[in-house]
Amino acid sequence: MVTKILAEVPLKNLWIFVTDKCNLNCDYCFFRYRTNSTELSYAQIDTLLSALPRMKRHNVVVSGGEPLIVWDKVKYIFNRVFGLFPYRDCSIQSNMYYWQEDHIRFVLENRISVEPGLDGELPSNQRHRLGITGATYDVYVRNVAELINRGVDINPTMTVHPDEVDFMEDNFFELIRLGFYDIEVHPAFLAPWDSESARKFLERYKRLLTWELKTRYRRIRGEGFIGKMYSLSMGYGMDLVIQPNGKVLPNWTLLSFPENIRDKFTLFHIKDDGIVINQRVVIDYLRKLLDFFKKNPTASYREFSNFNAGLAIRYMDRDHNNWFQAYRHLTEQIVKIERKIPGLELRKGNI
Ligand code: SF4
Repeated sequence: MVTKILAEVPLKNLWIFVTDKCNLNCDYCFFRYRTNSTELSYAQIDTLLSALPRMKRHNVVVSGGEPLIVWDKVKYIFNRVFGLFPYRDCSIQSNMYYWQEDHIRFVLENRISVEPGLDGELPSNQRHRLGITGATYDVYVRNVAELINRGVDINPTMTVHPDEVDFMEDNFFELIRLGFYDIEVHPAFLAPWDSESARKFLERYKRLLTWELKTRYRRIRGEGFIGKMYSLSMGYGMDLVIQPNGKVLPNWTLLSFPENIRDKFTLFHIKDDGIVINQRVVIDYLRKLLDFFKKNPTASYREFSNFNAGLAIRYMDRDHNNWFQAYRHLTEQIVKIERKIPGLELRKGNI
């Protein structure tokens, strides 16, 4: 049944949030209602991977929490994916604190790209990525340098909190100084955006894109798994976002909502011994999704994500609704800018 449903709706990305345990507590964390104690079981991982349809290519992201906290499970997931799907793009999202030799060797040998979350200079990280100190920041930086030197495909996401827009360029060039090549600059989701902070973000973002075009040396949008894809037309389809409790959502933005709201969008529940399908949610969601793509056939991944967040935001308070409206407007402007600037070649692709 799951295979039948998935066969009718193209799967864009499989996100496996293997654990919600994390050594940090970022105030803009997309997974902000984490229990900090839940992880997928091996049996749930087996159930999930055996139910996935064979496709031309699988895009698999393993994330958390901090996935390296449950490294044996991460390796188990990837090894099963390699066995099942001959064609796949694999990546791992990490805050870069725990990296050791065996982790580096594994990602290198298996061509797994790494997406670190690092927001630039120490003060910006310290203000919002709670748990980072001067000493731990040095560890992050050292680990990043080691991965870059060893030739790991590493594409950071620099999250910009509205309070940090004035430091956006300083933070970006700090990441360049650290040796990064592809950098995804992304506004924090469900953070207190207003028209002024959004205006400043766009102003600086345009300057960074202009710098990128002028130098033709480094790219602000990644060549990695999803970075450069955010503003492309994605075509009809959806994500599968596996939460550490086995409940499956259709897009990552929904992770940012409290559990009772996330439950309204839970398509499947992966258990140790099988999958429970939430028929009512699946049918209702797919109807809305189809309608969205009919009205927006060239929708980008950003717009698809906003469509999902828009379904859930109405259950939140007025502040969150206002922040989301400003965020949505901001990301729409980003798509417009990226599609308009000649040379960025964003109009040609399709996810
Ligand atoms: S490192 Fe990632 S998962 Fe951990 S608190 Fe920060 S944003 Fe959330």
